[in-house]
Amino acid sequence: MQDFIKRQARPQIFNLKPYTPGKPVDEVKRELGIEDIIKMASNENPLGPSPLAVQAVKESLDSIHVYPDGNCFYLKQRLADFLGVQTNQLLLGNGSDELLKLLVETFINPEDEVIFASPTFSEYEFTATIMGAKCKAVPLLNFKHDLPAMLAAIGEQSKIIYLCNPNNPTGTIMTRAEMDGFMARVPKDVLVVFDEAYFEYVESPDFVQGVDYLSEYPNVIVSRTFSKIYGLAGLRIGYMLAHPEIVDAVKRITEPFNVNHLAQVGARAALDDHQHLRASRKINAEGKVYLYRQLEEMGLKYVPSEANFIFFDTGKDCQMVFRELLSRGVIVRTGDIFGYPTYIRVTIGNPEQNERFIKTLQEILKI
Ligand SMILES: *Cc1c(COP(=O)(O)O)cnc(C)c1O
Repeated sequence: MQDFIKRQARPQIFNLKPYTPGKPVDEVKRELGIEDIIKMASNENPLGPSPLAVQAVKESLDSIHVYPDGNCFYLKQRLADFLGVQTNQLLLGNGSDELLKLLVETFINPEDEVIFASPTFSEYEFTATIMGAKCKAVPLLNFKHDLPAMLAAIGEQSKIIYLCNPNNPTGTIMTRAEMDGFMARVPKDVLVVFDEAYFEYVESPDFVQGVDYLSEYPNVIVSRTFSKIYGLAGLRIGYMLAHPEIVDAVKRITEPFNVNHLAQVGARAALDDHQHLRASRKINAEGKVYLYRQLEEMGLKYVPSEANFIFFDTGKDCQMVFRELLSRGVIVRTGDIFGYPTYIRVTIGNPEQNERFIKTLQEILKI
């Protein structure tokens, strides 16, 4: 590297581990020369986007020469109704990834500390490291957040605790009772971020949403997305829900036109598409039951999931399983990046994708 780059760049950037995205279908087509590929690697909706969202986006194409509404007025109104909150508690972002980054840019000074589970979604560590924060990773206990250990990890410098609920990559949740106890013990000036990217898929009656703590705890921040159940990952839109003064603070550093027009229009229409939402939940619940049964028959242990993916033990080197699946046109995520070298994370697909995944896995594992 050129000497001056090392000297002039902010030192924090050299501490970053690059993000490993799910392999895009086109890349696999180019590299392997196979056409028939299924991606079960990024927890996208196998039903595709809401048809109402697609329609709304098409109808808006003629106005993309105009800057979008920086305040997302109509979408915010619609979301506030939908969630039963005030519009001043909402902030929209270019995916929830952007909101996670804006949060640390708003709150983190170098040497501040953030706490998250391990393994969990990599964006918490990524964004906090950019800002020079110290990261405390608290190991999961039985694949779940170890809330007592996370509480014990809180120190003088702690500023943000991230709770990924359901957790990516394990699909596990915190129960209401666990969360109640946790929230009562967290110092009032430590921010608690609930990342609820998958909450729409949760079936357990024990689940509690971060929204339920908002009125009592002004240090709660909820992050959600249109990328998963709403099927709009390519549009890039997510939202944050928090105390109006937190929203105000984060807004100060937000780019004026951070959410594009098509994303705003698509998200608004998707919120009204109850049928798409219902169908997405149903296909996921059914696919989960099918995959559980197949994995059980193969004698493979899995982590029961409240999300749209399953984390399971192949009993073999996950890189080998990944490569073999890939060469047969099935893209998944390996567990080694999460510290589980024999695990795979697979997105629950449609019945055809699920069956093909299982058949291919059986072929590879010779079960
Ligand atoms: C997919 C995912 C997101 C969504 O990110 P976007 O930027 O909104 O696409 C957020 N959190 C977790 C845990 C995720 O898995």
